[in-house]
Amino acid sequence: MLMQISISPTDRLFVLTGAGISAESGLPTFRASDGLWAGHRIEDVCTPEALEENPALVWEFYSQRREQGAKAEPNPAHRALADLEAKLGDRFFLCTQNVDDLHDRAGSRRLIHMHGELAKSRCEDECGRPPIEDRTVYASLVEVGRCTCGARLRPHIVFFGETPLEMSRIQSKIDDCSLMVVIGTSGSVYPAANFVNWARHAGARTVYVGPERPLNASAFTHIVEGKAGEVLPGLFEVLSI
Ligand code: NAD
Repeated sequence: MLMQISISPTDRLFVLTGAGISAESGLPTFRASDGLWAGHRIEDVCTPEALEENPALVWEFYSQRREQGAKAEPNPAHRALADLEAKLGDRFFLCTQNVDDLHDRAGSRRLIHMHGELAKSRCEDECGRPPIEDRTVYASLVEVGRCTCGARLRPHIVFFGETPLEMSRIQSKIDDCSLMVVIGTSGSVYPAANFVNWARHAGARTVYVGPERPLNASAFTHIVEGKAGEVLPGLFEVLSI
């Protein structure tokens, strides 16, 4: 019998997800495949330098991710988190490192995409205009759209070396949580790999769910070994008063 995590009427839950939660939807993780993401070195496609030196390759890569992401469907793990949010309301908060929109499509609403979103683009010159919806699969760099200021668009993705989005809101949600559940992330990308330590500092219980132990395994109070789509639907027991 798998362990269950009890959520008391006063618990406040912070969930952090990584690429592993979308693996059962057919989207590849990258640490699992020799440090490559869909066959590419992250330095070649996920850094400000890559965008500067080879924007055609960066856009080709993210166009392929858009195409693949559009074909994927939320799996039982995404749906279990949306169901849990429906029960807990404002006592639930979800932060994902994923750039796919599978949590959104499963129905999650109290959600931050700390590393950006595949389905959006923004001004390459950071002119201040907010990101726009953009699911276009560009066939070449010349097709890539322009911001209203005239500069080329870039994917709305936080590259390695850039600051993740909404960090102060994330920090305050972690300070406020009594239970942190981390799902499908290797514990190798910072600052997300440190969230578990922030939560412990705030006095929270900390649980990891995934088929193998993450690099930061020693920081968790419980490790639940298994695939997210198999474990999550039966993992939570929501207690009433
Ligand atoms: P990672 O690739 O470094 O690690 C994936 C983790 O998922 C591994 O620890 C693996 O054991 C675990 N895993 C594999 N299958 C699983 C399953 N069925 N259920 C639960 N866990 C499973 O991923 P990361 O730590 O999230 O870091 C990767 C970075 O790359 C992120 O910042 C993210 O933005 C980006 N990325 C995003 C996507 C996406 O949006 N779907 C995909 C690949 C990479």
